Amino acid sequence: MRATTIHAPGDIRFEEVPDPTIEEPTDAIVKVVAGCICGSDLWPYRGHNDIDAGSTIGHECVGVIEEIGADVKDFAVGDFVIVPFCHCDNTCPHCVAGVQSVCDNLGFTASGQGEYSRVTQADGSLVKTDGMPEASLIPSLLALSDVMATGWHAAVAAGVRPGGTAVVIGDGAVGLCGVLAAAQMGAERVIAMSRHESRQEIARAFGATDIVAERGKEGGARIADLTSGVGADAVLECVGTDESMKTAFAIARPGSTVGFVGVPHGVELPVRRMFQKNVGLAGGMAPVRRYLPDLLERVLSGAINPGLVFDLTLPMEQSPEGYRAMDERRATKVLLQP
Ligand SMILES: [Zn+2]
Ligand SMILES: [Zn+2]
Repeated sequence: MRATTIHAPGDIRFEEVPDPTIEEPTDAIVKVVAGCICGSDLWPYRGHNDIDAGSTIGHECVGVIEEIGADVKDFAVGDFVIVPFCHCDNTCPHCVAGVQSVCDNLGFTASGQGEYSRVTQADGSLVKTDGMPEASLIPSLLALSDVMATGWHAAVAAGVRPGGTAVVIGDGAVGLCGVLAAAQMGAERVIAMSRHESRQEIARAFGATDIVAERGKEGGARIADLTSGVGADAVLECVGTDESMKTAFAIARPGSTVGFVGVPHGVELPVRRMFQKNVGLAGGMAPVRRYLPDLLERVLSGAINPGLVFDLTLPMEQSPEGYRAMDERRATKVLLQP
């Protein structure tokens, strides 16, 4: 098959690689209908993560089941499925407790920006639609494979409640989905921290009531103003840098919780402030499968349209250009069509 591969920082290729195959009886092979580039793919692209030269990249996709292993019972060839970026059996103690991203049989999508992708633990991981969805729904269904579920997890971890004020740090696709999640959960005020006009627009469409363009200390001062000096009831940290984490703790009101889903890179927690202000930290890698049935229902009913985060669609063979567009912030999120 042809798939997107990474060879070195900045070196993305679309090339011939071996087809994924059924390796375990619990596996399924999915023919990718749509894949996309994640903000976290930019970490290796920018040289911040180790790279296994020539390996496939891409962990977000939806598609049609092409082949199933002998033990797969709940799915059949031809089913349209949403593939969570992290695979799980959905039966082990951690899955039962709602942390499917720490499953005893955890696996990951490895070629979501290619023509085919292998799903481990297919019965536990996948969620299918009733027949082939309309083309117009594909972007929103694709967003469920990671960013919408991850934004949702940030809001759950931060304890967003009806009537409260939620602040979302990060205006990438996950942060924007965090805005949508906080609004869905009934936050009365949803403040999006964003400096980019096109992203501010999406944030507003997702339910942001206020936009704060300032960052760091000035951003903190603006949030203090907007909350009468009290601070935010819930803070969603959707970046993963030390600066964004510091901002999160600076604006969280005493007694609240910061929900974090940005993959941490060089973060030092302000433990003394956390102690003095009684501010907690919760979250981590999103248990996508836990939220999928509910989020699928919301997409199908039209309650949410997370597909709006895609502002550039390219043929899959142009994935290298997709990476450049996201790296240079010319695109918020790139959808790739095989
Ligand atoms: Zn992702
Ligand atoms: Zn499990």
